[in-house]
Amino acid sequence: MRRMLGGDLERKSGNLSVRGSRIHGQGAFAERPFAQGDVILGIDDSDPVADRSKLTPQQSIFIDVFVAADGSEKTTWMKSPEKFINHSCEPNAYVLTDMRSGVRWIRAVKTVARGDEITWDYAINIWEEWIGPVSCRCGSETCRRIVQGNYFTLPREFQRRYLPLLDEPFMRRFAKEIESLHLTAEHGTA
Ligand SMILES: [Zn+2]
Repeated sequence: MRRMLGGDLERKSGNLSVRGSRIHGQGAFAERPFAQGDVILGIDDSDPVADRSKLTPQQSIFIDVFVAADGSEKTTWMKSPEKFINHSCEPNAYVLTDMRSGVRWIRAVKTVARGDEITWDYAINIWEEWIGPVSCRCGSETCRRIVQGNYFTLPREFQRRYLPLLDEPFMRRFAKEIESLHLTAEHGTA
C-alpha cells in the first residue's frame, strides 16, 4: 500500500488545493469537477502513529483512526491535503476502501463543481467518541449544529442516510452493531 501511494500523482493530490474555508480554518477545494462516484483522492496511510496514548489533544486533531481492509484498527498521521478536509453534515465526499489493495479512496457522493470545498462527515466509519464537541458551521439545511459522537450516536435519519456511504471494513467489523440499529437504506444515498 505504501508503495502504491508513494507517488504524489498516483493518489491524485493535484485534484485538491488547500485554502481558507468558510467552514473552518483551511479547507480542501476541488481543482476539477467530479461526477458521483469519481475518485477524488487516495488517502496516504503510510505514517502510523506509534503510541496514541502519548499524543496531546492538539496532535490528536490530525490523526485518523480507522478499520483497515484486513480488519485491523489503524491509527495514522493525516497528510495534506486530506487533513484539511472539513466536516459537513451534508458531505460531498466519502471513503471507500479498495479491499484488494487496501487503499482508501475518497470518492464523490454527488456532483462536485470545480472550486467546491470537499467535505466529509466526521461521524461516518467512526466508532469512538470523537474529540470535541465543537460547533458546526457547515451551513447545510440539515446541520446538526454540533460535531460529536460517532456513527452509532448519530440521529437515526443520519444513520439511515449514511448506510450506503459506510466503508466495507467498518461494516464488517461492526456488522452486529449496525444490524441491531434495524436500519434500511430505502431512502437511498444522501
Ligand atoms: Zn453541520
